[in-house]
Amino acid sequence: MNPRRPRDRRAACALAGLAFALGGAAALPDEGNAGLERLVSQGRYTEAYARARDEPPQAGESLYLAALSAYNALMLTDARRDLTRLAALGYERRERGWPTVSAMSAGLAASERWTGALVPVTAADGRVAYDRSGCGDVTFASDVDSAASEAYAAASRIAFGGVRPPDSAPPVNLYLFDRNADAAEFLGALDLRARTDGSAASIGLGIMLWRELDGCDAHPGPYGLRATLAHETLHAFQSLMGVEYGPRWTIEGTALMAECLVDPNRALDLRCKALTAVRGDRARVLAALQSSEERFDDYPVYYMLCSCFARRQSLAALGALMRDLNRYHGRSTEDALWYSSALTPVALAAAALRDTEQAPEWAAARDLVALRARAGGDPDQQATELLAAYRARSDEPYLGFLAARALVRAGRLSEARAVISRLERTGYEGAVEGTLTDSEAMMRGTGAGS
Ligand SMILES: [Zn+2]
Repeated sequence: MNPRRPRDRRAACALAGLAFALGGAAALPDEGNAGLERLVSQGRYTEAYARARDEPPQAGESLYLAALSAYNALMLTDARRDLTRLAALGYERRERGWPTVSAMSAGLAASERWTGALVPVTAADGRVAYDRSGCGDVTFASDVDSAASEAYAAASRIAFGGVRPPDSAPPVNLYLFDRNADAAEFLGALDLRARTDGSAASIGLGIMLWRELDGCDAHPGPYGLRATLAHETLHAFQSLMGVEYGPRWTIEGTALMAECLVDPNRALDLRCKALTAVRGDRARVLAALQSSEERFDDYPVYYMLCSCFARRQSLAALGALMRDLNRYHGRSTEDALWYSSALTPVALAAAALRDTEQAPEWAAARDLVALRARAGGDPDQQATELLAAYRARSDEPYLGFLAARALVRAGRLSEARAVISRLERTGYEGAVEGTLTDSEAMMRGTGAGS
């Protein structure tokens, strides 16, 4: 789940270029139909789908389980193929309250308004395909096409330590919609559940992406769409690894780390929000760590906890912890933390707070939060402070972006132009508040562009 992307996102990505692994899904012993049934009965549809894809069943119970898995992993083309075959064979229902072949076929038929042909994303070697039947906006589909490969590679780096998952991993399907309300109808037709009040959602290997969220751009800023896609693709990989039912802080915290790989503003944004939300209160951090409820307000704290764990241990250790914490192990957070890293929840919360106060990668966020807290009404003073902050931490482009805008407002145009030129040379495009091109237009508006 990806919450509504905030309006004020901040600079720099301390994680870019690192490769780390949550670790792959453990190889499952070959148990044939019994193995498939065990996975399905535990709700591990994506893993069951991947297994059935390796050894496609031809008939009977196994084919039914494959169809049910594909349906619930939102791999609807495969579900349709298997259900058609089951119907032709006259196979209808299962016990245990699982849906009948007719019910799933009716769900697919009702969802057909939003589904059609899958189009492979140009540069991802067939690993990603999108279906834009639910989206009348050709530009949005084209934007998704150009953002998906980079996002996929970023999520793969977090999940598998490389730009691609193992060759055996199935593809990811993107379902595009004009509005989040359309995605809600699509899910209703299939009788599946996911929150559609954020900027995207995922179920299994299917990602639902909409252009407009309650009338606003669902992915504002030059990096918004890439970040949303990286976040949801990581959830798809979590589902494939069978860790998607772990604690919220691990699930969302790692997805936010994937966002930081494609959005140079995101890490600083999350750190500023975490500092503001927590204000040194360990109980607040502990509450986010221990709560099973998903709260958008807690996302920066989830990021804070995951990045602290990864910094002190490793991303691979975080992956091992997530596998240990999945609900099939039945291990508590307290036990898993202790066995994996000799930490208690209180100790992890305290370590995360210490990072916010002392770790070098949190320095720019500390500066920016302090600068905002004492911000007065003098534009010249603000511009001076932001420029000093950027000069001290020039690896944080968002600080430069803020400084440039403040300099324009203060009428210090040659200094603004120098900062913008420097940012442009790095390939930086801007933030949620506007692009670098907008800043240049602001300068022209003040009569300085000529
Ligand atoms: Zn999420």
